Amino acid sequence: MTRTAAILARIRTAATAATAVFCLCLAAAPSLAAAQEDGGYLAKIDEDLAGLNSEELEELLVFVAGNALFTLYHEGGHMLVSELGLPVLAQEEDAVDNLATVTMLAADSDDMDLLLTNAMIGWFLIAGDDGEDVTFYDQHDLDPQRGYRMLCLMVGADERAFLDVAQELGLPEERVETCSQDYEQVSASWETATEPYLREDDPPAGKIEVRHEPAPDGLSSLALFLKESALMEDVAAELDTLYELPENVTFRATSCDEENAFWDPDMREVILCHELLGAFAGIYLDVLKDAD
Ligand SMILES: [Zn+2]
Repeated sequence: MTRTAAILARIRTAATAATAVFCLCLAAAPSLAAAQEDGGYLAKIDEDLAGLNSEELEELLVFVAGNALFTLYHEGGHMLVSELGLPVLAQEEDAVDNLATVTMLAADSDDMDLLLTNAMIGWFLIAGDDGEDVTFYDQHDLDPQRGYRMLCLMVGADERAFLDVAQELGLPEERVETCSQDYEQVSASWETATEPYLREDDPPAGKIEVRHEPAPDGLSSLALFLKESALMEDVAAELDTLYELPENVTFRATSCDEENAFWDPDMREVILCHELLGAFAGIYLDVLKDAD
């Protein structure tokens, strides 16, 4: 998949563009300071990123990009289930996590593997942040379960690429041995379910529109990064190329007062909240702080 091959190069270029905004933000320090008082940690993200060296910034943006990509494929999965009327034989949240994972694995590139690894590790870091707050009746599995299910599919698809990280995260040898079956079953199930809706033409059908709306205070550098890295455009173009969608849909980055992303079936929109990118950045800022 050539579109994903240059993705890290684009992320690095986008990081440079975003750095220019960090400088502007520092120049506008008085209003930023005012915003911090009522906006919580998200209002400080631009300033926090401006304080990183280029290596830390790149690491953080790869983490944000990997988690944003996974989120977009996950919400894109909800969109496909809803728009194509696909059967879902277990919890939908698990099914679309699986789709996001096998789609990113299908790129079969080192860059995408790195982004996927960052998204997988994200679940363990979020779990660490949540502490003991465990909800057993949630629509989603527990965060570490989501992380381990992704990791199992990853090592099941490509042991050479992911065995080291599986061992580091304590995935036992006997589980690793069964992961290739999990991977085969998940990818074959998704292929069977979506087969009637696959397109034959190469160029995108033009059914998915991408919109970037302004970010709240403190998140403008990440909003610019999202735009410059064209992550949302990549996912939209891929789904628009692969599947025959019955209606037009929109992928929209916007400000929503919560750290979230969702598929809105009434408006036919995948919404990626700027606040969620801020939350991913916040998680990695803590990792960098702990490393000091
Ligand atoms: Zn979901």
